[in-house]
Amino acid sequence: MIKPRTTFVLYIIVLVLVYLFLPWKGIFFSIITALFLAHLVYCSYAICSQVYIKTHCIADTSERKISITFDDGPDPKITPQVLELLNQFNVKATFFCIGKHIEENKETLKLIDQKGHLIGNHSWSHERWFDLYPAEKMKLEIEKTNGLIFETIGKKPKLFRPPYGVTNPSLKKAIKNFDFNTIGWSIRSFDTINHVKKTVFRLKNKLKPGAIILFHDNREQITEILKPFLEFAQSENYKIVPLDELLDIKVYE
Ligand SMILES: [Zn+2]
Repeated sequence: MIKPRTTFVLYIIVLVLVYLFLPWKGIFFSIITALFLAHLVYCSYAICSQVYIKTHCIADTSERKISITFDDGPDPKITPQVLELLNQFNVKATFFCIGKHIEENKETLKLIDQKGHLIGNHSWSHERWFDLYPAEKMKLEIEKTNGLIFETIGKKPKLFRPPYGVTNPSLKKAIKNFDFNTIGWSIRSFDTINHVKKTVFRLKNKLKPGAIILFHDNREQITEILKPFLEFAQSENYKIVPLDELLDIKVYE
């Protein structure tokens, strides 16, 4: 992916060329500016663009191995239901937890750990405008969440997933000293917005070796989606493994 700095230089060169040689300068200026802005937006919002932060989005494997991940918990009601279902299918997953939710549900976090699943950092507030925060404010949130996870389960995460999957220069600066493995996804289930049947259909269609799938364990409908998906994945001989096994990475300090 071309870096924004390179795109900016190209943008200026093309603007000068248009100014010197082409008619209808206004139209060309608008088109080029729109393309430049679209590129900037893509670099931040596509978690796998790899522009600002190196992110694990899929494993390089032809084996039928995948990982499933859950964001935005722990939720005192829904997370235990998810854990129960995972237990029935003998599957280990990764939970990217929000600090302020952990503070209210420490027992649920302990349960995730006790059941043998992995826990990652997903910021403290997951505030709507998190990606516009200055680096220092982001860093404090991430540090506070890692601190609380350590206090609760005695393990400090090396797995991080940016809120909303947004990466930018501030976040890059914020996580500089954490030595995190930043985790994206290759399949977004859209379990927060889509109808159950549509979500399951989409997952079945997109499933492929090495996939990392994004779910949310704070949505009422998650178990309705998860059950048919797990049945399908296992019937297709997919092995669902934890992220450390899929990516050969360290998950705790
Ligand atoms: Zn999230």
